[in-house]
This record gives sequence, C-alpha cells and structure tokens, in this order.
Amino acid sequence: METNDNIRTNKAHKTLGSFSSEIFVKCPHCNAKAKVFIKLGKYTIPYPFDTKSIFRCDNCYKPIDEKLWYGPIIIAAVNKRCGYCGTALSYEEKVDKYKDKIEVKCNGCKQEKRYDVSYSLTYPNSYQATDPNFGLPLWLQYPINGKIFWAYNYEHLDHLRKYVSAKLREEQFVSKYSITQILPNFVKLAKNREKILKTIDRLQKVDFKPEQ
Ligand SMILES: [Zn+2]
Ligand SMILES: [Zn+2]
Repeated sequence: METNDNIRTNKAHKTLGSFSSEIFVKCPHCNAKAKVFIKLGKYTIPYPFDTKSIFRCDNCYKPIDEKLWYGPIIIAAVNKRCGYCGTALSYEEKVDKYKDKIEVKCNGCKQEKRYDVSYSLTYPNSYQATDPNFGLPLWLQYPINGKIFWAYNYEHLDHLRKYVSAKLREEQFVSKYSITQILPNFVKLAKNREKILKTIDRLQKVDFKPEQ
C-alpha cells in the first residue's frame, strides 16, 4: 500500500463540496454521460461570486433549462396542523412532478383533507444519487445492499477508494470537515470494503453505464 493511502495526510482531507466543481450526470435527452460544472463569475476578488451551474452534453449537445430542477422534490402540507382537530401533521412525500395540493390523513382524527403544499429540493444521500445543481441522475452510481454508492466525478471516486482501502480509520485524526465524516455509514463499515472496492472498479470502467 502506498503511503498516500494514509487518510491522515492533509491532501486527503477534503469536503464533498471540493469535488462538486465538475459532476458527471446522465443526459436527460440521450442518456449519455454529460457534465455539470461551475462557471465562475467575472469578478473573483476577493472571493468568487456570481457562480453559475452549467450543463453540457458532448454527445447530443442539447441544452437543458438551467433554471429548472429535474430531480425529485419533497412536498408536505403547508398547514402544520390538521384542519379538523389540530394534531400536528408530519406527512411528506417524494415526487417527481410538482403538484399544488396534497391529501393528508391525520394521525389524530383519521380524517383526510387536501392541503396546499410547501416543497423542498432533495440532495444526494444513501438512497438517492442526484446532482445538487439540477437534480439530474449522477453517472457514477451503483446499488450496494439496497443503498446507493455514488461519486460526483473520478477524482471523488479515487478519494473514496483511498479511504475505503486505507486501514487507518481512527476518527480522532480526521479533521472536522473531512469528507469521512459525511460519508454514509455503509461506506465506512469494514465488512462492506470488498463490495465497495469492486463497485469502484466497475464505475471506473470506460463502458460503465448507470442502471437508473
Ligand atoms: Zn445528450
Ligand atoms: Zn385531525
């Protein structure tokens, strides 16, 4: 094993955000591997602002509407309490298309009522591999034990490989903002190591295509 596999090295201390400047996604038009990248604004001093997320497919060259969200959204009732008895409503639903009303059954009085909705965007997690800019499916994703292993790009994948193959996992040496702290638990578990390394091999193949 190379010494740079050691997760204590500063170079390995990266946040998820540090891999997000280039994200491989599945093109919604032709299903080929496309790219979402961050374009910096004109003024970058003292820090970059006015950044813009750009989509580009080098296979079909069709654009997407960069003002739209293509991924699932979570909707919940705008009313926080049942319109009949006042019991708190906790129901929320993940949907692919926005709808302006939601039917919610109250846990208290068991009566159903239609409510206006509030919505929030979804971000990638162990069950969902979507890009955080437009909600497009990530290219580098593969199911493991009912969860989804994913990476934004090949550098991210390499980093995950280093982490998983490293023997050193003492959390006390890991910086507060290290990616290892935001890794899902199933990636951290030693018993999943072989499966994850195999998955990374698979994802790195040139002819890999995501199932989703
Ligand atoms: Zn395309
Ligand atoms: Zn009620």
